[in-house]
Order: sequence, then structure tokens, then C-alpha cells
Amino acid sequence: MTPPSAAYWCERAWLPDGVVVRVRVEVADGLIRTVQAGADPRPGDTRLPGVVLPGLANAHSHAFHRALRGWTDGALPGPTDGALPGGRGDFWSWRRQMYALAEALDPDGYHALARAVFAEMVLAGVTAVGEFHYLHHPPGGGRYADPNAMAAALRAAAEEAGLRLTLLDACYLTGDLGEPLTGVQHRFGDGDAAGWAERVDLLRPDAGFRVGAAVHSVRAVPREQVSEVVRWAGEKDAPLHAHLSEQPAENARCRAAYGRTPAQVLDDAGFLGPGSTVVHAVHVTDDDVALVGRSGTTVCLCPTTERDLADGIAPAGALRDAGSPWCVGTDQHVAVDVLAEARAVEMHERLATGRRGTFSPAELVDAATVAGHRSLGWADAGALVAGARADLVAVRTDSVRTAGSDPAQVALVAGAEDVRTVVVDGRVVVDDGVHRLGDVGRLLADAVGAVRARADR
Ligand SMILES: [Zn+2]
Repeated sequence: MTPPSAAYWCERAWLPDGVVVRVRVEVADGLIRTVQAGADPRPGDTRLPGVVLPGLANAHSHAFHRALRGWTDGALPGPTDGALPGGRGDFWSWRRQMYALAEALDPDGYHALARAVFAEMVLAGVTAVGEFHYLHHPPGGGRYADPNAMAAALRAAAEEAGLRLTLLDACYLTGDLGEPLTGVQHRFGDGDAAGWAERVDLLRPDAGFRVGAAVHSVRAVPREQVSEVVRWAGEKDAPLHAHLSEQPAENARCRAAYGRTPAQVLDDAGFLGPGSTVVHAVHVTDDDVALVGRSGTTVCLCPTTERDLADGIAPAGALRDAGSPWCVGTDQHVAVDVLAEARAVEMHERLATGRRGTFSPAELVDAATVAGHRSLGWADAGALVAGARADLVAVRTDSVRTAGSDPAQVALVAGAEDVRTVVVDGRVVVDDGVHRLGDVGRLLADAVGAVRARADR
């Protein structure tokens, strides 16, 4: 369905050169046709108060992890390695809980959960999501009748929730650097990179759906197989992502197996480059920073997850200075708030360096909009300019959080709860704070409840 033409009159809008007052944006066929500053509203225009940002991009998501929010900080079940009473533990004890949830998902349950999570994202101003997807197969590791049934569930969920999806289909072949897959990991595996590519080739992109490639990590993909995934992405001109050095243990195992850091292993395989994105980059060496930056590889930072999972703080300023563009993702969704994510990068940098302002407010908005979209293969989105996709996110400047502040510093103060209207590809998906699917809290409660009931059985 072609979206109708429309015109929006913005009290203020975030244009490429900064915040401009009285901006009229004409939209047709899902694209921005004209952007006129200093304009008067015309009859029939939709008025957008506050400050209108370009669409936000959530460049790293695992939708099903949303069902862990609010469940991982009490007493931990199961074996106690890495876990201590009272919710104490580490990344690896958290992963055990995540795996229990992964066991419980089928395509229908995944569809309902992802639909609610994606709707939560649109409520927060997200117009495109990169879903880093590795839960491919039924329990035990057979195949669904449609080998991409889980991907199809995600795709339908995104369509219904009203945002664009880049499916970062992840190759996941080994348990831990050469160890065989165990337990739920059998659901992730395609045997080898050729088997992965054969399945991914069955996916068909469209105007709102792109297929990207992902190397889960150097833990999960042997280095000679990484090259195969890189080659596939190059042939398809597809976005290419990988988790990188989220935990010290990954580095230690990688050095033991290869005598190289994970960043060096990715570089050896031809992974690094301007079309690629590494996620986290927390435990990188100075040489890794130089290597990643010099290659022009984008870094996707997920600070709310990285602190929730006790990962650490990525050297974001150093990576930027070395040459890497950066974007953000809400990853395991302890919060779904892309502005808060961008802000946290600057805040963590302050804690780590003792200095304020490594990143300007404009850099935070760029990371949350244009850089994230580019990382996901939507080079035509993330800016309010003629010819771009018509994504508009109206943020309140009269809320208790934002009232009285300089609109140019909105990224330092506003959050998901301040997003009032969201237009995606010319369609109004959130109107005055209400998503077209209705009560998203209810959708989340129902979907999370159903999955948790299965997981706890
Ligand atoms: Zn991740």
C-alpha cells in the first residue's frame, strides 16, 4: 500500500546543520519531497510540536531477550558457576538464563514477542532495527518446513509493528572456539558457512526488509568460515556485523586458539571495512582500536546492556578518533531507548576519562539516526532532507524531563517517553504517544508471559 502524501509543519526540526525553527516537510510515496525552513503552516498540515528528529535506528537487537527484563536480578536457578546468590553473577550466568528462554520459543511465540518488542521500539522513535538473529531451527537442531520460519516470524512482526527490519542473519557453528554445539545451541547451527548461506539465500528482501549477514563471534565461527560469510556479504553488498570482544574470556580463548585477538582474527578473514559493523568492542587493545578505526569499520555500542551484563566500557572516544563511525543498539533490551543509549556512550566516557563532552550533542543524534541506518544498509534514511525516506520523530520539549532545555541538547535529556509522533516511510505509526497496535504494554505482558510460561515448565 502506497502511503498517502502529506505535509508536516514542525515547530523545530533537526536538519543536517542543526535545529531549525518553523520547518515544513512535504511527503509523498514514503519519501521526503521538500524541506522548507522558516515556513508558515498551511491548511491541512499536521502540526508537530517540540523538536522533530530524523528516524532513529536501533542497530543491534535480540528481540527475544526482552523477555528477560526484570527476571535476571533475583536468585539464579541451576548450576552456580559464575552465579552467586541474590542475583549476583556475570555475563555467563546471565547467558544460562537466556538459553533457557531460547529453548522455549517457537515461530508463533517468537512472532508475538517480537511484534510487541518492535512496537515498543517504534514508540521510542525507532524506524529501523537490526535484528541479530541466530535462533534459526527447532529444538534439537532439525529444520522447520520453512527453514526460515523464525526469520519469517520476525519479518511479519516488524511489518505489523511498522518499522523497517534488517535481518542480520547470524552464522553460528561452534560452541566455544572449536567446541561442538551443545543444548540449545543446536538451534543456532547450520553445519557450516555453506549451509548457512544456502538457507539465507532463500530470504527475499523488499522495500522494508533487508537481509544482512552476521558472524556471531569468533567464539562461534571458526576463522576459515568467517571468510566464507564475508565473501557472501561482499557478493550481495549486504551489511555485515559481528560481536567483538564483549568479554575478557572471549579474548583469552581466542588468543589461546589462534595467538591473535578477536579483532585481528576478523581482520585476517577480511571482515573489517566500511561496510562492516562490530558490536561492543569493549575489551579491545590499543592495536585493535587502531586496526578497527583505520579500516573504517563502524562500531555499534550498547551501553545499557554492557553495564547490565557487567561487560565493561568500550573506548568509544578512542575508536572514533581512530576513524570508526559509531551507532547504538539496545541489544538485550533492559531498556528500549535509543536516545538514552547514545547519551550513555557519552556518560560512560565521562566516567572512564574524567572529562565531559567527548561527543557533542549533534554527534549523539548522528549516531542514533544516520550512522545507525547506514550500518543497517538504509543509506537513504536518517536525515531530514529531500529524497530521504520520510521518517519523522517528534519529541516533546514540554515534558518534565525536557521543559526549559535547549532543543539542540535534546539528546542529553529526552527519552523514549518523550516521543509523541512517529512517521515511518510516510506512514504515521505512533500518533500522540499511541501506537497503531494499541496498548503495547499489554502486548508485551501477554507475549512475555506466554514465553516465560513455556520456559518455566
Ligand atoms: Zn548481541
